[in-house]
Amino acid sequence: MKKHAIIPIFIPHRGCPNDCVFCNQRKITARTDDVTPEDARQIIDTWLTTLRCPDNTQESRGIVEIAFYGGSFTGLSIVEQSSFLAVALDYKQKGLVDKIHLSTRPDYIDRDILDNLRKYSVDTIELGVQSFDDEVLKKSNRGHTAQDVYHAVKLIKAYGFELGIQLMIGLPGDSLESCIMSARETAGLRPALARLYPTIVLDDTELYNMYRRGEYTPLSREEAVSRSAEMYKILDDAGITIMRVGLKSTDIIGEGGAINGGTYHPAFRQLVEGQIAKERIEPLLLEILHDQHHVPVTISSNSRWFSNMIGHKACNKAYFASAYPALRISYKTDDKLPDGQFTVISTGH
Ligand code: SF4
Repeated sequence: MKKHAIIPIFIPHRGCPNDCVFCNQRKITARTDDVTPEDARQIIDTWLTTLRCPDNTQESRGIVEIAFYGGSFTGLSIVEQSSFLAVALDYKQKGLVDKIHLSTRPDYIDRDILDNLRKYSVDTIELGVQSFDDEVLKKSNRGHTAQDVYHAVKLIKAYGFELGIQLMIGLPGDSLESCIMSARETAGLRPALARLYPTIVLDDTELYNMYRRGEYTPLSREEAVSRSAEMYKILDDAGITIMRVGLKSTDIIGEGGAINGGTYHPAFRQLVEGQIAKERIEPLLLEILHDQHHVPVTISSNSRWFSNMIGHKACNKAYFASAYPALRISYKTDDKLPDGQFTVISTGH
C-alpha cells in the first residue's frame, strides 16, 4: 500500500459562527492562537523536513497531503481562504506535496466558493455531516439540515472534487436506527472517504451542560462500539475508505474531566474492527462445531487484520477460548485474504 502522509493545519473555530452543542473548537484542536498563512508555511516546512527522503520523488515519499482542519474552512472570507490556499498551492506546484484537502460544513458550499477552491487546485472537500437525521441535527444545534448535505454533495461532485463525509455517533436524539440510516445515506452518496466519530462530551460545551442537567446521556462504550461497527460495515461494503474511527488523544486536551463519557478510547478503531472480526468469525466456528466436536481449528486473517482478529487486549481470543472450549484454536496470518475477511479451518483429522 502506498504511503500517505497528511500535514494537518488546524484553524480553530475561525469562520464558524455556529454553536454545535458538542463543539469546543479551541479544546478539540488543542490550540488557542489564530493560525496565519505564515504559520501554515512553517508547519508545512517542519513536516516536510520530517518526511524528507533522498530523492523527494513521490515514489519514495508516498502521497503527501496538506489538510486544513479544525473549523469550517469555507466559512472564512474568500480573501482569507485564498491566503491559506495560496501557500498550499505553492507547495503543490513545486511538487513538494500532492494534494490539498479541507474540511467544512455542508451549508458553506456554493458555486463561488467551489470556483475559488478549484482555482487553488484543492483536491478533497470533507463535509462535517454528522447525521442525516434532521431531528438529531436540530437537537445538536448544527444549524443545517440533511437537505443542505445533498445539495452540497451534488455541487462538490459536479465540480469533480474528491468527497469526504464525517459522521458522529451518539449525538442527542441519535439511535442505532438513525446511525444506520446515516451510514446508508452516506454509502448512497459514494464519497471516497469517511470518518466516524463517537460523540465525546467536552468541558465548556452545551453538551456538557445538557449532561449535567440530565438531558443527555453519553453512550456506553459497548453501545458506541456496536453502533460504529454497524456503520463501518455499511461504509466498508460500499468501498468507502474509512480514514478514521474515533478521535485521537491529541485531538482532545484537558486533564481530568474533558472526557466524561464512555465513548473515548485510544484504540477505538481496534475495538470496532475487533467487534466486526468477532461477529464474522463466530458463525464460522459454529459451522465447524455443528459437524465435529473436538477439533483443532485455525482462524486466519491477513496481517493487517491480525490484531483485530485477536481483539483488543486479546479479548476475542479469550472469548472464543471460553465460549468454545471444545475447539483448540490457533491463529495465523494469510495475506491472500482481503481486509476484514477470515477463514476458519478444521485442522483435525
Ligand atoms: S460547525 Fe464545526 S467548528 Fe463550528 S461549532 Fe459546529 S462543529 Fe464547531
